[in-house]
Amino acid sequence: MEEMQLPLRKIIHVDMDAFYASVEQMDNPELRGKPIAVGGGGKRGVVSAASYEARKFGVRSAMSGFLAKRRCPDLIFVHTRFDRYREISKQVRAIFYDYTDLVEPLSLDEAYLDVTQNKKGNPSATLIAEEIRQRIFDEVGITASAGISINKFIAKVASDYNKPNGQKTVNPEEVLTFLENLEIRKFYGVGKVTAEKMYKLGIFTGKDLKGKTQDFLDGHFGKSGSFYYNVVRGIHRSEVKPNRIPKSVAAERTFRDNLTSEIFMVEKLDHIATELAKRLNKYKISGKTVTLKIKYSDFTLQTRSKTLNYFVADKSLILETAKELLYQEKMQNSVRLLGISLANLNTEDKKVENEIPKETLSVQLKFEF
Ligand SMILES: [Mg+2]
Repeated sequence: MEEMQLPLRKIIHVDMDAFYASVEQMDNPELRGKPIAVGGGGKRGVVSAASYEARKFGVRSAMSGFLAKRRCPDLIFVHTRFDRYREISKQVRAIFYDYTDLVEPLSLDEAYLDVTQNKKGNPSATLIAEEIRQRIFDEVGITASAGISINKFIAKVASDYNKPNGQKTVNPEEVLTFLENLEIRKFYGVGKVTAEKMYKLGIFTGKDLKGKTQDFLDGHFGKSGSFYYNVVRGIHRSEVKPNRIPKSVAAERTFRDNLTSEIFMVEKLDHIATELAKRLNKYKISGKTVTLKIKYSDFTLQTRSKTLNYFVADKSLILETAKELLYQEKMQNSVRLLGISLANLNTEDKKVENEIPKETLSVQLKFEF
């Protein structure tokens, strides 16, 4: 195994299938199963999106409507409705936020999700991607594809693999082979022009690329040289940059056996406060309002809150406040879940930052995908 440092991440790239066209076919049943082009209808119009039925004839986005019609005489042109696409995109994103706040939209129909730590506590990014795609289909009505891997670059490449309505996971131990076998034109960031240049240099696959020195790549590709040098070795440190700032940060735990003794509850709160402080630290967030969430064995839910007059982020202060809330009144029943959350955050005018973990590949391999 080669020596290398890889960030310990579980990244999903979700890509809606023929997004604008799929929305039009969903909203207008008479268009279903037919070759349609969104946009491109005017005299000098350009196609924004083509349905899969139209793609079979060679109709592509960014193609002139004139050429599209020549390739597919039965092509139906539909007007773009961006407000509607934005609305659908919002519904899809709301599903993503059920799993993680680390969502980075690339456009209305694509996003990166970091599910290394996720709200469902699900260790399998593969299963999360399956669940998300199923929910998009059930709740929104269109299909999506997904790529799952250890960084954004590989996830993005992988989401194209089993498109439409499919997904592909590149597990940590498969990463290097996957990249070596990848055709150079499929590398994200390598466009037509760069691909031609690579071919002339004898680079057709990831393996060929890996055979070149950093100096060679710097010399031929300037600033992009080190990007190519690194990504083919599985290294891509770009983080999922959320553009949404969370309103609260929480950690909670469901117990296998319901708790009746407050001594045990305090013990559990200690673990939960540790977990919460870790998250706060990771995102460099602090907050003023501590809330204790109690779910009883009969599933009734109770919350108790206290707002401090200063920001807290460290475990001991959070735990102290949570304990105070715990002892505030007697428990109504045995307890099946405890949670602590922090709101009134100091993130009003701040972007959330998270650091790059520096675990090595050997750690990575123990990772469940
Ligand atoms: Mg798409």
